[in-house]
Amino acid sequence: MNISDIIKGDLTGIGRYSFSRLSTYHTCQHQYNEYYNNHKRGQGNSFASYGTMAHSILESYFRDEISLDSLKDEYIQRFSDECSDGIQMFLPTKDGGFFEKDITSLYYNGGLEFFENFDGLEGMNVLGVEENFDILIEYKGVKFIFNGFIDLVVEDEDYLYVIDHKSKGKFKSVAEKNEYRRQLALYSVYATYKWGKPVKEAWFNQFRINVIEKFEMTDEIIEEALTWAVNTVMDIESEFLWLPNTSDRFYCRNLCDLREQCVYFNRNEDS
Ligand code: SF4
Repeated sequence: MNISDIIKGDLTGIGRYSFSRLSTYHTCQHQYNEYYNNHKRGQGNSFASYGTMAHSILESYFRDEISLDSLKDEYIQRFSDECSDGIQMFLPTKDGGFFEKDITSLYYNGGLEFFENFDGLEGMNVLGVEENFDILIEYKGVKFIFNGFIDLVVEDEDYLYVIDHKSKGKFKSVAEKNEYRRQLALYSVYATYKWGKPVKEAWFNQFRINVIEKFEMTDEIIEEALTWAVNTVMDIESEFLWLPNTSDRFYCRNLCDLREQCVYFNRNEDS
């Protein structure tokens, strides 16, 4: 037996990273270490449940499993099944506490308006829905396996479009939008590799506020995203401090799955 006919590459020691894994390192190194290195799991949050539910409805629609006409009823039923605890937001107050705000109606009505009025993506051919991939990247001398799930890839005659469904509200700044843009820039690398056409635009389908933010995909944007990714991989692979980041109290209290077990966040809350 000729081993080289069977083994096509040795990936030993090459890390596998998703966009969310790379971003978590920048959000809070302690969260990264607990989640990815120590395999700790916490509790989810109502924002994530809402986003997962809406993603799943859109996935079913683009897989031709449900019709355009049934989207609204599907949303109403699934909201009541999967978001039955409502959606609460905890806003940091000046005295170090939190103010609880019930935003269930805001989220429910935003989604309802979207699913009531959504009329598909006319003129576009659907290529990939929840497209899962693993690609081996080598950029600036750094190798890593990049793993992703692309919500949707569509094409017109000449180009591809990568689409991410997001429950978030308006982008707060150009800088925030550019940070989110990196994910779709990295996904564009795979889309072009798989379907052999350039990505013309990336779209954020911000369904809760009924906005599709579009931006042109360029080589500069992709290069910036790749540079960010390889720098992050190098930082992660040489990290040993794993410092907590409690500065964003909104994130810690609302979005971090480890919020109840995090000694750093809870120590701050107790003091
Ligand atoms: S609660 Fe805050 S400090 Fe603690 S792991 Fe989560 S993000 Fe980090």
